Amino acid sequence: MSARGVRAVGTVVVVALLVVAGVTPALATADRTTATDGWRPAVDASPSDGTLTQQDGATLGERIVASRNDEPGSVTLTFEYRIPDSVSGLRVGVPVLSLPGITVGETDGFEHATGTRFEWDTETERPSVSLRLAVGDTLGDGVRGVERDDWALVSQPSTRVQVRAAERPTRTTTFAVDDAEPGYASSHLAYLGPHDRRNVTVADENATFVLGADADTERATAFLRTANERFDFGVRHDRITVFVLPVSDENTTNVDAATVDTAFWVGESGLRLGDTGGVFTHEYVHTRLGTVGTGDATWLTEASAEYYGHLFALNDGVGNYESFRAGLRAEEYAPERQSVTLTDPETWRGTTAHYDKGAHVLAALDAEIRRRTDGERTLRDVFAGRSEPFADYRSFREAVIEVAGDESLGPWLDRYVTTDALPPLPENPRYYVADPDLDPDGDGTPSGTEVDRGRHPFVAGAGPDGAVATEAEPTTAENETGTESERETGTDRTGTEGSAPGFGAGAGAAALALVAALGALRRRRA
Ligand SMILES: [Zn+2]
Repeated sequence: MSARGVRAVGTVVVVALLVVAGVTPALATADRTTATDGWRPAVDASPSDGTLTQQDGATLGERIVASRNDEPGSVTLTFEYRIPDSVSGLRVGVPVLSLPGITVGETDGFEHATGTRFEWDTETERPSVSLRLAVGDTLGDGVRGVERDDWALVSQPSTRVQVRAAERPTRTTTFAVDDAEPGYASSHLAYLGPHDRRNVTVADENATFVLGADADTERATAFLRTANERFDFGVRHDRITVFVLPVSDENTTNVDAATVDTAFWVGESGLRLGDTGGVFTHEYVHTRLGTVGTGDATWLTEASAEYYGHLFALNDGVGNYESFRAGLRAEEYAPERQSVTLTDPETWRGTTAHYDKGAHVLAALDAEIRRRTDGERTLRDVFAGRSEPFADYRSFREAVIEVAGDESLGPWLDRYVTTDALPPLPENPRYYVADPDLDPDGDGTPSGTEVDRGRHPFVAGAGPDGAVATEAEPTTAENETGTESERETGTDRTGTEGSAPGFGAGAGAAALALVAALGALRRRRA
């Protein structure tokens, strides 16, 4: 990422706005207020990968079909419903209709009741409503996806479905590409256009590569295999989908990649895994952790993907140790040096500072937890097995203290998260071992054994400091003081950032808002 530097404003940006077929707490509240007049939300039981499953009781089938239009500039999304006999009334709300660039097309059996709501006429057996979604090749008002000559990529908008029914039906939602067109949809993303598909099984998980561009999937598959076996935070999915878009680094800008739930997209070069800062491993982490924090813990989502993206890549033998540390070090916060406080989004909104400082702070925190627990616990214990994001910084702080069993870690963390101070980046490579049984430097000795012997786990033939090991090399020394001094940074605050309206995180699902940075920011994965 940082190696790629600043690019000119380019031509392809995929936007956020993504949406999962879940009911957010706010929406659930709204639904409850209408329950008194007989309308109730359908029970959302669609699994995160969109496959239909057999449910007890009545099922209300929702199918969202994406198709390209003859004229460029928009795609059509058709919402089709299969209504069980027990349902006597149906309302469908499409919140994104309140945004510019989305217009109502044909309706069949639905009346457009209000701005974002449609009401079923109760007679049409398979009612449907079509929306036109503006897409473009640059980010701007109304752009909800990307379209090029041969292909388009769009996201699935969320809907709110309410019914009048004696028995509340279970809603199942599928997202699909029109049968008449080439394309593939999965987990809230749809690629419209010719492509190859490659399916592999990686540690009990099905991985589908949707190849809009010719790309070698071998290295990425190997990473997925290692990751699912070693780095999955206890989060398993049935499937993961990787969309490889036919865009080169030269003609993407601002956003290099993005994840929605269990699918993500990358550009042509995204599968190469040339250095630890590549987009692929970052997005992989998003598919496991989803939204990690909200409120003043919002920074955690990108910080964790950035830190673990680097860390897991390093431990799978990607890149080298020096560039790994250089990639983690927040020398300055893009796009300009500025004062950044992670718990205050105003200080980093529109920048990549929450990735950069966030990853740096998490690296230091990981080392602190390992040091204070004598290697028994790591930062991963703070994230593993969680189904809900941290609601705020306080809850994250409490979880850290609990994992470390050390109250004094609280003030340590406060210093680097709630002020603009930056901790030294850990120097001892032992703190970067993600799995002691792996052998990332390929010297035939696993990382854990190398650390025990005072050898460098990431540099073949080297001691813990990166120098060539000698027989007299001491065991790994604590080296917590570091050489980096904390630095004061400037106070410029620039830039703006796109938000993700209409995005609802499914309960427990790893749903991630794509955040597209506006303006001349450094290229960034979302
Ligand atoms: Zn990200």
